[in-house]
Amino acid sequence: MFDRDRLSRTDSSCIVIGGGITGLTIATVLQQQGVQVTVLDKGRGIGGRLATRRVQHSESIKGVFDYGTQYFSIKHPRSQTWVNEWLQQGVIREWCRGFGETDDKPRYCGVNGTRGIAKHLAQDLAVHSSTKVVKISYNTRWSITTEGDRQFEGDILVMAPPVPQSLDLLDNSQIVLPSHSRTSLEQISYHSCIAVLALLEQPSSIPAPGGIALADESLIWLADNYQKGISPQGHAITLHATPQFSEAYWNNKDAEIANKLFTAASNYLNSNVVKYQVHRWRYSLPKTLYHEPYFVCSSLPLVMAGDAFVAPKIEGAMQSGFAAAQYISNSLL
Ligand SMILES: Cc1cc2nc3c(=O)[nH]c(=O)nc-3n(C[C@H](O)[C@H](O)[C@H](O)COP(=O)(O)OP(=O)(O)OC[C@H]3O[C@@H](n4cnc5c(N)ncnc54)[C@H](O)[C@@H]3O)c2cc1C
Repeated sequence: MFDRDRLSRTDSSCIVIGGGITGLTIATVLQQQGVQVTVLDKGRGIGGRLATRRVQHSESIKGVFDYGTQYFSIKHPRSQTWVNEWLQQGVIREWCRGFGETDDKPRYCGVNGTRGIAKHLAQDLAVHSSTKVVKISYNTRWSITTEGDRQFEGDILVMAPPVPQSLDLLDNSQIVLPSHSRTSLEQISYHSCIAVLALLEQPSSIPAPGGIALADESLIWLADNYQKGISPQGHAITLHATPQFSEAYWNNKDAEIANKLFTAASNYLNSNVVKYQVHRWRYSLPKTLYHEPYFVCSSLPLVMAGDAFVAPKIEGAMQSGFAAAQYISNSLL
């Protein structure tokens, strides 16, 4: 527990590094409980792996791509409550009940792409995007320095980037965690994933409802964002490479990567690619998980959370966020 004598709910402030779904969940819950919260994110757009991009080819051909998270489903009542609100507010909708084989579980997607969920959560929060934290220090309060030398201060620090990035930031700031905690956190590792965003001349032949999981050497997933309903002015296809392909070709030229993946996907593309972009996700899905839903530092008011603390999915990240926010809230007077 943090120092109860000093930290009261109404007087304390919290800095959240990372405006992905984890950081935004924590910030939303804490703000609802009266804590003053500031979210800092290095990305130009908010959302982290909730990522949607627009690519224009011509006046009439514009693609919209979900190139990180593709869809999500929900198991827990608390996240279902949030999802029901997002459905009502028109932020998300049901995409389908499965790809190929169906079941009774809704697969949700953002109405205008998954980044829309992050934008929706961010609208009521103090969020600073394009704000990369480069140094943190603690001396009765946290002092946060960003690229461009902006300063932020707070009583509690939440770190919600992928764990290796949080550990690098601690190292660069000469903040030493207790060694057993450090060792556990260092065990967390992630798959990488190369995503190719391809704009086609003609409709693809990806089967309805516009997504297919593949058991291929190089491709794990193909999505047709036109069929998905987020790209009405362009046949925008997202290709996700397997972890093995992504590791093997990480440093290859974009054109080489794209050509290999287009060949592997040729049965589904059915058309010329008029424009493409390649995005490399260094931290895609966690492959080893932490043994608790969040991490609390025993010597500093510092909490870490994210999908690697619960499950490699949107709902895993939300569950970690709920648990971390609950812990912080319980620690305040
Ligand atoms: C290719 C791909 C496909 C996926 N598909 C699915 C799917 O279909 N369904 C599903 O449920 N999940 C999927 N996921 C997983 C899902 O996206 C993640 O579980 C979830 O988004 C993790 O959210 P997060 O907030 O924990 O992390 P992130 O979204 O990674 O957020 C971390 C944030 O920290 C910021 N940050 C990092 N360092 C700093 C710094 N120094 N200063 C400021 N900000 C910083 C980053 O900019 C980022 O916004 C997929 C992920 C990928 C990459």
